[in-house]
Amino acid sequence: MPGTSGVLLQIPQLQSLEERIAATLMEFASLSESNRNTWIAERLGAHYPSGLAFHEIARDLVSLEINSAEFSSTFCCPACGRLAIAASPERVSWLFFAPE
Ligand SMILES: [Zn+2]
Repeated sequence: MPGTSGVLLQIPQLQSLEERIAATLMEFASLSESNRNTWIAERLGAHYPSGLAFHEIARDLVSLEINSAEFSSTFCCPACGRLAIAASPERVSWLFFAPE
């Protein structure tokens, strides 16, 4: 359901994610024209469209890093408003918290 799912990053996870995003964007920005397509295909797939704007590629690279980051999934129940945090990355069980 839209607006009910989220992620919780602990500060070290956030710092690590920021470092990886910065390193990836730095690498991307410093590529020569001749290496760019190979580098993009290695990260975003052989069928990634060519000719996209720098902004679109950068956004996809950031998205890729975020999706591979370590985080805890969260869920806010639309019926009762309780917040749940996944007890494991597999999201098989949830810990529910009620507002005071
Ligand atoms: Zn509920």
